[in-house]
Amino acid sequence: MRLGGQRPSRNVQDRRGQGGGFGLPGGRSGIRLPMGRRGGGIGIGGILILMAVMWLLGLNPLDLLTGGGGFGPQQGETVGGQRPTGAAGDDARKDFVARVLGTTETIWEVNFTELGQQYAPPTLVLFSDQTSSACGLGAAAMGPFYCPGDRAIYIDLSFFRDLETRLGAPGDFAEAYVIAHEVGHHVQNLLGTLSRTTAERSRLPEVEANEVSVRVELQADCYAGIWAHALAEGGTVLEDGDIEEGLNAASAIGDDRLQKRTQGRVVPESFTHGTSEQRVRWFRRGMESGEISACDTLRADRL
Ligand SMILES: [Zn+2]
Repeated sequence: MRLGGQRPSRNVQDRRGQGGGFGLPGGRSGIRLPMGRRGGGIGIGGILILMAVMWLLGLNPLDLLTGGGGFGPQQGETVGGQRPTGAAGDDARKDFVARVLGTTETIWEVNFTELGQQYAPPTLVLFSDQTSSACGLGAAAMGPFYCPGDRAIYIDLSFFRDLETRLGAPGDFAEAYVIAHEVGHHVQNLLGTLSRTTAERSRLPEVEANEVSVRVELQADCYAGIWAHALAEGGTVLEDGDIEEGLNAASAIGDDRLQKRTQGRVVPESFTHGTSEQRVRWFRRGMESGEISACDTLRADRL
């Protein structure tokens, strides 16, 4: 990506280095801890349902916490030569995130204007280890997530390293796609989709609720595709190979691929984000059409 000419967003909040400073009372942390898919936590209560909707990228936090093939850093793992480290590197990472977020702001402002609405951008919170959110405690182990309660995206940058080294999805555009997917959830929030589907899911048995979740996630992928479409049209940001990086990332975080990695088997009725093939297809669909109307995964007969 060539982001040098892009305006950095002013909506990035840097809470790195404050990790662990937001300790919650022990009795409350349980409910805020994400439940693994195996745990069947969905349906237990409103907050878990909400968390499940926000829950990003199909990472299974329980697997992480229990060491079951999770995504935490491995001993002896190198970060990779192109990853700057140290204070200057941190600033470079923040600058990258701010510019990517800036592109989403520009693009969604235009799309909302076409809908006759005004786009209110989300805040993007960078954190390390854990931080508080209106949706409860955000932990690095959860992967990036969007919280509708405070209209904020939460990202621990170590996820991007995992995306490259452990999930096999390297590249700056892969990272940008993850941000664009989260922004997609924010768009769903602004358009009322999140509150509608959260209510719907709370009335449904788990398997059906999971299917609604998959539809919500695939729509966020499709919205990320709309963002990619606009970048491609702009003609200055994308470089050769960027789109492939995005498609590869969408594929790497499909439920089937992740389950195979973490559990060694695939359980389709527990899917909450969609298969690799579906994620790639809906991202592509948004990218090719550039139209919000092409992303109606909630009513699509076939996902
Ligand atoms: Zn998502």
